[in-house]
This record gives sequence, C-alpha cells and structure tokens, in this order.
Amino acid sequence: MSYGWLDDDTTISTDLKTTKETPFYEPIVNNFETGGYNPSVSYHYNPDVTQYHYGVRHPMKPFRLMLTDHLVIAYKLYEQMDIYKPRRATKEELLEFHSDDYVKFLETVTPENATKLAQTLKKFNIGDDCPVFDGMYDYCQIYAGASLDASRKLISGMSDIAINWSGGLHHAKKHEPSGFCYVNDIVLSILDLLRVHPRVLYIDIDLHHGDGVQEAFYLTDRVMTVSFHKYNGEFFPGTGNHDETGLSKGKHFTLNVPLQDGIDDESYTRLFKSIMEPVIANFKPTAIVQQCGADSLGCDRLGCFNLNIKAHGECVKFIKSFGIPMLVVGGGGYTPRNVSRLWCYETGIMTNMKLNHKLPDELPFRNFFQPDYSLHPNLGDRLDNKNTKKYLENLKNQLLENLRYMKGAPSVAMQEIPPDLQNLTTDEEQAIIDKLNSESSYDEYLENERYWINEKDQARKHELVE
Ligand SMILES: [Zn+2]
Repeated sequence: MSYGWLDDDTTISTDLKTTKETPFYEPIVNNFETGGYNPSVSYHYNPDVTQYHYGVRHPMKPFRLMLTDHLVIAYKLYEQMDIYKPRRATKEELLEFHSDDYVKFLETVTPENATKLAQTLKKFNIGDDCPVFDGMYDYCQIYAGASLDASRKLISGMSDIAINWSGGLHHAKKHEPSGFCYVNDIVLSILDLLRVHPRVLYIDIDLHHGDGVQEAFYLTDRVMTVSFHKYNGEFFPGTGNHDETGLSKGKHFTLNVPLQDGIDDESYTRLFKSIMEPVIANFKPTAIVQQCGADSLGCDRLGCFNLNIKAHGECVKFIKSFGIPMLVVGGGGYTPRNVSRLWCYETGIMTNMKLNHKLPDELPFRNFFQPDYSLHPNLGDRLDNKNTKKYLENLKNQLLENLRYMKGAPSVAMQEIPPDLQNLTTDEEQAIIDKLNSESSYDEYLENERYWINEKDQARKHELVE
C-alpha cells in the first residue's frame, strides 16, 4: 500500500471526490517504528477549561485547547482512544502539594476584591504574568483534575498512555504562582504516581526550564527530572544551568540541558535521544511524565527555537517507544494554530496513527490554518542556530558524565512511601475508578459540547489576539 498522501513532504493535488474519500489517518501496524507496541490510550479533556481568560493581551490563551480538541476530533482520533471528561480536583487534592494559605488565597481572590489585597497579591507573586482573572480557581481545579484523572488511569492499569493537553503547568510553586501557572498539576500527578510507582521520570521539552517540578523533587531519588530549555541566566525563569543536579539523596537525579537560540530539528532530536536513552537505561523508571510544551516550536510568539512539529513529535515518539506507562501533558505554547497542530500530531503518535498531512475539511476555525491548511507548515528557518556543534558535544559529554555518578536505580520498600500517599485502600481506589468511569462515559460526552462549534466558540472569536 502506498502512503504517498500521508504525512510526508510531498504535495499531491487531488480533485474534490478524492479529497472526500481520503482517510484522516492510517494505522502504523507492527513495523519498526512502533516496535509492535500498541498501547491503550486515554484522552482527558474537560471543555470547560477553555472558557477562562487571562486577559486580552496576555499570551496564554486557553482557547488553544479548544482548537487542539477540534483537530483531534476532526481527525477522528477519538476512535482510537478512551475519551474522558475529568472531574475537577478537590481542595484536598491541591493541598497534597500547595500550602494551605496559598490555596485559600486562590479560592477567595477575585478581580473585584483584588484591589483591596495589594499586600497579599505581592506576597503571592500576582501581577502581569499571573493575573487574577474571573474563575481562576475553577480553571486550576479543571486542569489539575484532568492530570489527576489521567494519572489514575495509569495507576489502575486501564491506560498505558494518558493525555491531558490542558495540563503541564510546570512553573507553579508550593506557595505561589509563576509564569502563567497557578497550580502545579505535574507535581500533583507525580505524587499520585509515587503511591504505586517506585521511580518516576519527568521529561520537559518546553522552551522554559521546568523549575517548579525540579524544585519539588530536588531532594529525592525517586523522581528524576530532565529539562531541555533555553538558558542564558536571564531568560525566564532564570534557572536550569547544567550544574543544577539535585541535592542530598536527590544528587544526580536532576538533569538540565541549557540551550541557545535557534536550535534546529537535527541537533535537538539527536541530543535528546543521546541523553534520554542512557537516562532511561540507568534510572529504570516505572512511569514517565512527558511535558510537551509547544513554545519550543519555531515561530512561537514567545519562542526562540527552530523546531518543526515532526522533530518535537520525534522526541515524544522516542520516549513512547520504551513502552513505559506515560502521562502526557501540554505546557507553554503561544501561537495557538501551531500549538494545536503539534498536540494533535502527538495524539496521533500516541495512538500509532499517521495523520493526513492535509487538515480535514470539516474543521471548526479552519481559517486559522491558512494559507497552507497543513499539519506541517515550515517553522524551522526563522533564526540562526546559536548552538555550535562543539557546544552541543561538550554539553552532551558533561551530562553523560553526570549520569555516571547516578548509582543505579533506587529500589523502594513500600514503607518508604510517605503515609499520606498510601491512604487509599484497593476498594476505595476501585470506587474512584468506577465513579470516574460513570461520570465520563463516552456517550454522555457525545451529547455534550463537542464535534460542532457551539455558541461559546463563536462568542470568544473577537477576543482572540495573536
Ligand atoms: Zn514555556
């Protein structure tokens, strides 16, 4: 069979009839690309998350999640996954990581009372990056709830890969928000995974350093964090140099890969694979959390790398190929049309589906993707690559040297798991799983807001600023 029309760099013009009959995707079955790994994939999305708004001029647009979902649906990828509408995280769940006074603050602050709370806002680092907006606490509960829902599907073994594109807010700290992130859904999910997984590997390919997650697990050897990001000491959040490697028991269980502007597909994917392969071989994670921040793509509104969608996806595909249970979350990404292209493409990768290069005709907001209406616009030639071969080679050697100090994978006796992380009995856990399933049945989902543009989508159109 020829896959000439699929996901490649050739353009074939077709008449209307052919276009209509062109499949949206084609399975990749048992070939060298998948190694025969055919994971059970779940997709966790609460459409309510897109109704919140950081502010018209703010670069973070929850709307990008709606655009992503429209693409996933238009490509009919829901046929290949279990679809769940997750519940919101409870206050108690947020308190598993965040401090009491900070969660209380998030719960009570509103744009109306914010002006009277000038001192408190300062204390909690509220400002331009992290404004107070209507429904902020609900928004946090929704995206964190989706990550927790996803991690529980992994824990119960119902999913091998669980996806939450609304999560991945890696900068949030225990006591304060940072870099557009209020609640750290990644830390909450990893804490949840640690109840049953002895070792969790966190991989971050956002443009920015995954500082919130690194900080949370800096002292432990049960979580290894690896972050690839731009670093020059000044670029947000200012941390993430190669000499930050963990402390105490966690020494050598943190890895940072500082990069310069303009890194291209070839050098990024090569470096990524040459580091991640030995990390996985040495650390032997039993679960992986992959953060897929899309601001590392070329042409991102806040970005400075040259990556194309396929190269970003290649990294995720490489991690998937190890066949280890995997939570996949989003993160940054400030050019909505490319964020949604990327995350839809990566949803295809998770489900072993090769997507048609040409976007489906039946697609809400299709005009966002003009002029090419393609899944793979060229994003890779805007900036000069400031990462010389020599710089990357030295960096790689230095990082591999760090790995040599990591004395094998720590094994964990059950009594070492903090008591507050193991207070669910099997029955209680099963009850949660049953409840989640009944709350989020696929049929109910079909009835809801999906598959067409609803009134809400239309109403938000004027607020979109790029
Ligand atoms: Zn970012």
